[in-house]
Amino acid sequence: MILIVDDNQNNIFSLKKLLESKNFRVDAANSGEEALGKALKNTYALIILDVQMPGMDGFEVAELFSGYSKTREIPIIFLSAVNTDKRFITKGYASGGIDYVTKPIDPEILLLKVKTFYKLQEQSLAMKKTQHHLELEVKGRKESQATMKNENDHFHLMLEALPQIAFTLNGEGQIDFVNNRWYEYADSFEHFPETHIDDKNIAEEIFHCRKNKRPLELEIRMRKLNTDEYRYHLLRMSPVFEGENIKNWVGTFTDIEDQKKVEKEKDEFLSIASHELKTPLTSIKAYIQLLERKLKLEPTAAEASYLTKVQTQIDKLNTLITDLLDVSKIENGKLKITKKPENFEEVLKNSIETILHTHHDDTIRIDRHGPLADVILPFDAIRIEQVLLNFLSNAIKYSPKNHHIIVTTFLDEHEVKVSVTDFGIGIPDYKQDAVFKKFYRVEESSLQFQGMGIGLYICSEIIKQHRGTIGLSSKVGEGSTFYFTLPLN
Ligand code: ADP
Repeated sequence: MILIVDDNQNNIFSLKKLLESKNFRVDAANSGEEALGKALKNTYALIILDVQMPGMDGFEVAELFSGYSKTREIPIIFLSAVNTDKRFITKGYASGGIDYVTKPIDPEILLLKVKTFYKLQEQSLAMKKTQHHLELEVKGRKESQATMKNENDHFHLMLEALPQIAFTLNGEGQIDFVNNRWYEYADSFEHFPETHIDDKNIAEEIFHCRKNKRPLELEIRMRKLNTDEYRYHLLRMSPVFEGENIKNWVGTFTDIEDQKKVEKEKDEFLSIASHELKTPLTSIKAYIQLLERKLKLEPTAAEASYLTKVQTQIDKLNTLITDLLDVSKIENGKLKITKKPENFEEVLKNSIETILHTHHDDTIRIDRHGPLADVILPFDAIRIEQVLLNFLSNAIKYSPKNHHIIVTTFLDEHEVKVSVTDFGIGIPDYKQDAVFKKFYRVEESSLQFQGMGIGLYICSEIIKQHRGTIGLSSKVGEGSTFYFTLPLN
């Protein structure tokens, strides 16, 4: 809107008509005071100001306008009877646009100037708006930066309070934060603590896990700086995702030295106990056999059946003790595998027959699928039979309602693969990896079925030593398939 300030009503009228004919919105004031009042209340794009007015003249009005931030920058066109010197006009009104038109007014010149100022004013308003938006954006960014910094500080404070050593890596894999406990094991921020010569290198393991974008779990011994002792730590590191991308990594080292010591003591105890139990058990077994031979009992006699039961229980005890001994051999790296070229099919057939003989149950049905595994390959027949017997007896044990088992063989130029499928209770997804761990038993079934949770641990060690693979697939309530592979060479 344009404000015309003139004491002469006729002038106002003719100017108004002229401007309105060009679609400008127009307002008017008869004096400087009235003009100021209106300009403070409304928003004008331009003021057309008569210089010669009674009371406050045009220049004084302009000077007055320059004192208020709202009016300071409104452009003014002075209407003056004489050719006015610009020096007077601009007095005190430096920041606003200034021009003048001499009387009598040439309408075309006035309109030209009005249009120019109007346009300029519009542009300057648009620029101000943009500037305002930019200022808001900058402010917003500053605020979110401050919030992020606060969150980061808070996060670091929490990591500082952890009982573990904690660190973070940036997206490029460089360490960008460590808590104070870090310096008990490392003297610089950039380098990982030193590990025992027989353990894995932390930086290398982290490099691989970053490459595969997978979390890391690793047990290593680290050297404590002030005592020089190596203490076992569990390193855990996980990626922090931002959408699809990994933003950074968070890691902790948990001191598990005491836990490891207790474990070692337990292993030592198991080793001693199973050794000590083995000797008297072997004597008992021998004496029972002697007794059986001496007594020459009728097979139908009750005493004969008692002796058979004693022998069965002795065999069970013997298997338990042998398994425990195997565990301690694994712990001490003494589980020896003696590989000899043998026919795999024979070992497999033997194992199935042994299971059928030892389980006096007519409902057990073992079907064979796939080709005969009639190949000669180097393996430890006794140990591989142990694995097969374990798979088969587990398949029977954990399928109380269905004794149908399928043994499937696969052969190719690289390996032989055997799988044992049952239709039993199955194993929940998230527990499947753990069944190969020492003393692990699935809680849901541990009360219903007897066992120590070491059979599969020994199996996995035997297969590992043959450089084969071992695994399973299973569905709760539908059954499980355990498999292993052996390389042909
Ligand atoms: P054990 O049978 O003596 O407990 P294993 O090491 O042979 O020990 O097996 C470990 C655990 O895996 C078992 O306790 C059981 O929970 C689970 N498991 C093994 N085989 C099967 C199977 N065929 N079906 C269901 N669960 C099984």
